Amino acid sequence: MSASLLIVEDEEPLQILLSYNFSAEGYRVRQTAQGEDVARLVQEERPDLIILDWMLPGISGIEVCRMLRAKPETRSIPVIMLTARGEEAEKIRGLATGADDYVVKPFSVPELLARARTVLRRVNPEAVADVLTIGDIMLDRVARRVSRNRRDVNLSPTEFRLLEHLMQTPGRVYARSQLLDAVWGRDIYVDERTVDVHVGRLRKSLQRGREPDPIRTVRGMGYAFDERFGRTGRN
Ligand code: CA
Repeated sequence: MSASLLIVEDEEPLQILLSYNFSAEGYRVRQTAQGEDVARLVQEERPDLIILDWMLPGISGIEVCRMLRAKPETRSIPVIMLTARGEEAEKIRGLATGADDYVVKPFSVPELLARARTVLRRVNPEAVADVLTIGDIMLDRVARRVSRNRRDVNLSPTEFRLLEHLMQTPGRVYARSQLLDAVWGRDIYVDERTVDVHVGRLRKSLQRGREPDPIRTVRGMGYAFDERFGRTGRN
């Protein structure tokens, strides 16, 4: 699991509890107590899932959800709504606004984790798959192992996360700053050139002889896992 999660919740103890548990599951968690922050945070990095409290101090969760659904670029981001209201009519209203699922407070954390997994599996199977396979490269998230053409590839933990992140969305170009956030974490200062060094090592570990390079350098932008990699006749 390496999905990115945005938690929008104003109750601090709940925010801490959720952040702790989702991080422990391997999610990259960002959080805010303000519905007003959501548009900016989503633009900075598109989350794979949003957990959204209904009752927020400023803009309500319903409004935030409506706003997300109104824009083409955020329309498909899955949303799980949290609410204290258990009435059927409210539930229907929440789902009508475009939430993908609806959890009534108080809820159990394992239940919410399970719902999150289900929603993600539906919309983004790659984010929750135990094994990612593209062409002759296989990455096993559970065993933390990578192989190419059935031979083991030894990677440092950083290079493993880097490859995992790129393989999750083949073809998507990540800027160095985005890779730093995703792989090294937002709270650590690392120079952007570090990304180049690790991509270099990753390439070296993955390639033997004349095997094709699975990573594409996009000039002036960053890196992507080559979407053409592994397709017959293209490499
Ligand atoms: Ca609240």
